[in-house]
Amino acid sequence: MRVDIVSIFPEYLAPLDLSLVGKARANGTLRMAVHDLRSWTHDVHRTVDDTPYGGGPGMVMRPEPWGEALDALAPGELPPPRLLVPSPAGVPFTQALAYELAAEPHLVFACGRYEGIDQRVLDHAAARMPVTEVSLGDYVLFGGEVAVLVILEAVTRLLPGVLGNAGSLAEESHAHGLLEAPMYTKPATWRGLEVPEVLRSGDHGRIARWRRDEALARTGLRRPDMLAALDPASLDKRDVAA
Ligand code: SAM
Repeated sequence: MRVDIVSIFPEYLAPLDLSLVGKARANGTLRMAVHDLRSWTHDVHRTVDDTPYGGGPGMVMRPEPWGEALDALAPGELPPPRLLVPSPAGVPFTQALAYELAAEPHLVFACGRYEGIDQRVLDHAAARMPVTEVSLGDYVLFGGEVAVLVILEAVTRLLPGVLGNAGSLAEESHAHGLLEAPMYTKPATWRGLEVPEVLRSGDHGRIARWRRDEALARTGLRRPDMLAALDPASLDKRDVAA
């Protein structure tokens, strides 16, 4: 997968060299480049923002540098890249969207700052490539860089070969509309607290049932919205009894 990220703080993306995302970069699974938006400015101050039309507080990112950046990063290749624009006004980022993005050959991220990017940049790009405004959640950050770190971490772990044990993807939270059951490791007793007996029993059927019950209970308690959205066809009789 190719990834291009445009930001006025390219150094904010340095953590993308670490851990498993860094490894995916190093081994070529991810071909990633971070670009400084100011390299597409032409004035002595390398200006990227101006006051908002209609008045109001804050500054808005000017369209010209963004237009040039997108012309350079999406010069007409087929299929075009998918443009992701982090925004608190975007669609919520979910595991389902992470899977969708992991199947794309080329992603371009446009990191907004200030009050965001002039809307015409997105409207103009939309005539040439798919554009998705994505929100991390119902709160407001200073800029899109943290959102890009989050989105790319979620997407990279779905790419083939990135996780040592791809089985983890099938079991984890949000894989099947449920939260994962609690996990334990050695020692069996720690500060007087025991690992549940069933997990030490070696009885795989009982363990699977316990994990399923715990996942259902936890989801019901913490995320009743997820439980309500479960497809009834995905439940078995023992789930309903639990
Ligand atoms: N004026 C914008 C609004 O009210 O919708 C908020 C702009 S915010 C201060 C600056 C930038 O931070 C945004 O352009 C976006 O890139 C990023 N950002 C802020 N909150 C975000 C969120 N919840 N999810 C994704 N990106 C966010």
